[in-house]
Amino acid sequence: METNGSHGITVRCKRIILFPLPFQGHISPMIQLANILHTHGFKITIIHTEYNSPNPSNYPHFIFKSIKDRFSEITDKLPGNLDTNYFLKHLNESCVDSFRDCLAALLAESGEERVACVITDAVFYFAQAVADDLKLPRIVLRTSSIGCVLAYNVLPFYSKKAYFNLTKQDSDYEEPVPEYPTLKFKDVVKITNNPQGMGDFTSNMLSQMKASSGIIWNTFKELEECELETLPQDFPVPSFTLGPFHKYFSASTSSLIVQDRTIFSWLDKQPSKSVVYVSFGSVAYITESEFQEVAHGLDNMGLPFLWAIRPGMVVGSEWLESLPEKFLERVGERGRIVKWSPQQEVLAHPATGCFWTHNGWNSTLESICEGVPMICSPWFVDQPINARYVSDVWKIGVLLEDGFKRVGIEKAIKRVMTGKEGQEMRDRITCLKEKVNLSLAEGGSSFRSLNNLVDYISSF
Ligand code: UDP
Repeated sequence: METNGSHGITVRCKRIILFPLPFQGHISPMIQLANILHTHGFKITIIHTEYNSPNPSNYPHFIFKSIKDRFSEITDKLPGNLDTNYFLKHLNESCVDSFRDCLAALLAESGEERVACVITDAVFYFAQAVADDLKLPRIVLRTSSIGCVLAYNVLPFYSKKAYFNLTKQDSDYEEPVPEYPTLKFKDVVKITNNPQGMGDFTSNMLSQMKASSGIIWNTFKELEECELETLPQDFPVPSFTLGPFHKYFSASTSSLIVQDRTIFSWLDKQPSKSVVYVSFGSVAYITESEFQEVAHGLDNMGLPFLWAIRPGMVVGSEWLESLPEKFLERVGERGRIVKWSPQQEVLAHPATGCFWTHNGWNSTLESICEGVPMICSPWFVDQPINARYVSDVWKIGVLLEDGFKRVGIEKAIKRVMTGKEGQEMRDRITCLKEKVNLSLAEGGSSFRSLNNLVDYISSF
């Protein structure tokens, strides 16, 4: 039954239960999705782990239910000292019982008010069996690109061939991968150093995505047109591409770290499109020698820069101890370092000229939405895939192919910030930015996909 709320919102009398994976790059899009669905009249309950729990006071319009997890048994080994696949497996085992109990209790107490479905992060593959047991439709939110999932679906993680162990000395290293020719072998090597574990994780996640009632993607049709066309062959469930979510609601309220807003007075003084913004996201880490190469690269290139360095990001350091000697004195007013930035606003600032990123999917989308070309330094999982799309498919950035070397860094920054090639990248990403806006506007592809999703959930 539908009624009209006092603010003209259609109140659908149906509740949706959402369950985010407790990491920054996953919590933000899930909370944004919750907000989007709320503005379409659904009531929202968020089940969340104790670890990295969201702040309920930022969302008085949602109900929050905390469940016990056992993440603390292993999270003290983050970052760096933990195999990602082992970690993801642990996540999928450590909260099964508490999630089931919580969901069953919510269903039992829902009374007249129907629970339409549960939406969980795709990484929580265990949730499909729980939802099936409770006869509740489960829709999946996949927080990566479609291209990433298609690549995971065909890469031979169990192959005895040296796909994941090639080195620069191997003749295939620069060659395209037969199963997914957009990628080169050198990209695949970066995805994981434990192909067996990654194979187990991806086959669990992908099979449970295929068994779900539908997949929500934080992407938009015009960006991944070919991938979207291929998708139904292997994922024959309804797909909804209504992104980019942060264009509906900013990520700042779901930030797990306090954003340093003092930088705006400095940014305001910089010339238009002059600043190199550097951030490697919430999970990636860097060795001391890589960190020093980044610093030397920024020192040598001579342009203003804003560098977000998360405490603990440099392995073995608390924060800035391993900067090269006198670095801060040398760069002076030309550079600013923060622990965590208000990234979306920095990218939207007229002074920002390029984004040196690890290519997490949120960062990649945020850069596209602001028309800021990228320098790509991917670490692992989906990042090497995103980076290859940025540099070779969309041609809106430069991939630092040889890792962190000060000379390469300086050259890459020059390629993006100056000259004809840089201008062409800027033109292409500006064109994508316009396509984002069209897709979100009335009648656009994301607008229509969102309406389809709302109708689909209402039909449960
Ligand atoms: N972010 C931020 N401030 C920073 C660095 C990152 O607010 O200094 C935000 C960024 O806007 C993005 C998220 O953190 O929304 C990072 O997600 P992404 O998928 O890019 O990478 P992850 O952290 O998951 O590796």
